Order: sequence, then structure tokens, then C-alpha cells
Amino acid sequence: MKKSKKQKKILFVSSEVYPFAKSGGLADVSLGLPKALLPMFDISIMMPMYSSIDKDRFDIVHTGISFEILLGKKKHLVELFSTSYEGIKCYFIDTRILCAKKSLYGTPEKGYKDNDLRFGLFSKAVIAFIKQSVEPYDLLHLNDWQSALCALFLKEDSSIKTKCVYTIHNLAYQGVFEKKALSRLGLSSSYFNMESLEFYGDMNFMKAGIAYADVITTVSPNYAKEILTPEFGCGLEGFLAKHQNKTVGILNGIDISNFSPKTDTALENNYDSKSYDKKYKNKQSYLKERDIKNTQRPLFIFIGRFTWQKGIDLLVKELDKISTMKLNIAILGNGEKKYSKQIKSISSKHKNINFYFGYDEELSRRMYASADFMLMPSLFEPCGLNQLIAMNYGTIPIVNSVGGLKDSVNSIDDFDSKNMSGFGICFEKKKPKALIKAIKKALELYKDKERLNKINLHNMECDFSWDRGAKAYATIYNSLVEKR
Ligand code: ADP
Repeated sequence: MKKSKKQKKILFVSSEVYPFAKSGGLADVSLGLPKALLPMFDISIMMPMYSSIDKDRFDIVHTGISFEILLGKKKHLVELFSTSYEGIKCYFIDTRILCAKKSLYGTPEKGYKDNDLRFGLFSKAVIAFIKQSVEPYDLLHLNDWQSALCALFLKEDSSIKTKCVYTIHNLAYQGVFEKKALSRLGLSSSYFNMESLEFYGDMNFMKAGIAYADVITTVSPNYAKEILTPEFGCGLEGFLAKHQNKTVGILNGIDISNFSPKTDTALENNYDSKSYDKKYKNKQSYLKERDIKNTQRPLFIFIGRFTWQKGIDLLVKELDKISTMKLNIAILGNGEKKYSKQIKSISSKHKNINFYFGYDEELSRRMYASADFMLMPSLFEPCGLNQLIAMNYGTIPIVNSVGGLKDSVNSIDDFDSKNMSGFGICFEKKKPKALIKAIKKALELYKDKERLNKINLHNMECDFSWDRGAKAYATIYNSLVEKR
């Protein structure tokens, strides 16, 4: 699409973007949101040129731009690559220490030791890039701790007039490093105080985004409230409270053109609410492929990172019991080894538990399309995308009502076909046996096919797209840029 000259120029900065590199929901958002904003803004994306990204597959080429960045006492050569993906210009920062690693951030248990240098350098390179741009950028949209320092670098350079929005996707990952990170990055020790980067004697990247961005957003209205409490604030609740007047919660959406059962190329049988019975064919072929018997039983799935956030401890604790119920359960995930071991050991004892260890985008999509129910017993969930994808694929989510799960899943007890938001089975983890009770409720619902279908068809007609969220971000972008 040809851009009108009047469109505001935005750079969306993220450490992962689907389909180039993905470890979780951040990558989905980093494509879906810019795509939804594209008709309104001249928006491009910037991310690291990880060595795992296939340059040929995505036609990624050198832009001819390179520069040197001084970090502490060392100079680093930075090369800039680019491509166009689904109509969006995507830029890639290539510099050795950032990109030559095997994975994005390290292992699930421990990040790479030099992540401070890697993402400090990334943030500096972003600022160097916007400085050399002939047509200035109106606004930078930063995401999570990996690009948070951009907000500080922007404020340090009074020659740059670019505004800055900072989105917190998950407060549990703040980018905390030893104090010496400050000098490693060549940052003044004057930043080492409570109002800035200091955090219990360490240096905290996320605090830079919170302190120096013009507007902070987080990924659901409920999470915006929760992070002000000690239970969910991860030690930053006081600091966030100070910046509350510039904080807004906006519910994430999903990229419907990417996550739609009607067009998803991973599915054998595409379907929509008008051809919902085809979902059953997907279920049958999936069960056959995974050698799961008793195919008339309801299929429950879990897809996600194996980490305490996702409620894995509860799932592991109850898994033996769950397996005695008349259901099949398929688990897809990777993450902390202790959880994989536990799940592997339990699933080897029960034929109705199917465990696939790893990260597999295609398999996940076939699971969304085959399942009857999806389990999300998360302890906290800033927004969560799984439940939105599940509802869009006609699968009932079973959720612990926290964070964005509370904002996006209404209880089926209150089902109202005129309420065009999604419905699922909601429980409160704090109540004893809550998960087991929720699963029993699902089994009851499964017996009542008429009600089950009604809820699923309703969910599939709901709008989980980025339309609403993108409008809210557009309002913020416009008000900030007009204020300049
Ligand atoms: P997170 O906290 O991991 O970001 P979200 O619910 O926001 O959680 O997003 C998770 C995204 O990652 C979804 O698109 C989900 O389908 C996908 N996902 C998670 N784990 C896996 C896996 N093991 N294989 C394939 N996709 C996965």
C-alpha cells in the first residue's frame, strides 16, 4: 500500500517477532499489532538478526547501512538487514555478540551471562538507527526488558524528538543484572538510584522503560491493576504505582489472518462456525496420528512454556488424578527440565496422557483445532493468547481467572449469546481442588452437546482480532505525537 506523506512514522522494537523468531506470545503480538496499525501509520518493525533466522526463506538482505557502537570501552560493528513481510518493512540488527548464540535468551533456567551487553547493544543500535534516518521517526514502541534501555538513551539525547511507548508483556522477566552492568554498558553511575535503574542492589533494564517512556502500556486492563499489588508486582509494584498516571492496560488480540481455522495451512480440514463439524475430523486424525485410544472421549490440551507461571506445579500435582477421569489429555511444551521429567514420568504410566516435548508451531495449531478443552491453570497471566486462539478455533478454555484471562474469558455459568465476548470455564486456583472441579464441569458440558456447540459457535463468531486494541494504541500514538 502506498503511504501518504502525512502518516506518522513509528518503529516497533521487539526481541522476537513471528515468524522470524518466537519463544512465546511476544512474537505473535510483535507481528499482529503492527499489522493492524499498518493502515493508520507508517510502521516498521526492528528486531535482532539471530543466526537461527533463515535469511533466504524471508528474502532478508543487507541494507548497505552499517555503523559502529561504543559499549563501555569496546566498539561493536552493527550491520542492518531488512525485508518486507506481509506489507511491513522489517529491520534486523546484526552484531556478533547479540546474534551468534544458539537460542534467543539462554536456557529456561538461566539467561546468557552477557544478556546485559547483548540487549544493551541492541537498544543502542536502535537509537543509532533512528538518528541516521533522513526522515525522523515520530515514535518508538518498545517491548519488554530487552529494548527498555532505548527509552533512557532517547532521553539522554536532546537532539532526538521521538516519543516513546513502552509495553510490559510480562513483569516476571525484568532483565536484572549485577551493578557492574552499568559500567559495562558505559552508563553513568548517576542512574544507580531507586528512581532509575537500581533494584535491590542490582541493575534493572525494565525500570528504564517504566521511568523514561512517555506512556506505559500493559497487555490487559486487569493486569494493569494487578501489577500494583505485591502479589503480582514482582517487586516493582511501588515503582509502578509512581508511574501509574502514565500506565494503560490494553487487551491483546490475535492476528486473525494467521490464527484462523478457516485458513490455517497446518490443518487437514479447515472449518469455520458454519462448518464446525469438520473440527471433528481434525480431532480423529490427530488422535490417530498420536495413537490415542478411546476417541469418543473429550480431548483436553495444554500448550505452553513449562514454568511456574503457567501453573505447571498444579497440573503435575493433579495429573495422576486427571488421568483416572474419562478423558484424553495431550500436552505440548518445553521449558524447565524438572517439569518435563515429571510430566514424562506421569504420562508414561497412563495411556490417556499424550506428551510431546518441544516447540512445534504446526502441531500446536492442529491441537487447537482438534481439542474440546484447553487447560490454562496459570498462576498469573499478563494477557495470554492461548485462550484467544482456542476460542477462535472452537475450543473451550479452562482458566484460572487472573490477569488477561479474567478480561477475556467469561464464565459459561453467565452465558449470554448477546454478549459478544468469549466464554469458558473459569476457576479460582486458590480454592481447593479448583482445577479438578473445573475439569468435572467440562465433562458435564461435554455430555450436553447442544450447549457445548452453542458456546463454541458463539465464541467462533466473537472478534478476538487486533482491531479494538490497535485503535487504542493508535489513540495513544496520535496524542503523543501531536503533543510534541
Ligand atoms: P507466553 O507467556 O508464553 O508468551 P502466551 O499465551 O502469551 O504465553 O503465548 C503463547 C504463544 O506461544 C501461543 O501462540 C502458543 O500457541 C505458543 N506456544 C507456546 N508453547 C508452544 C509450544 N511448545 N509449541 C508451539 N507453540 C507454543
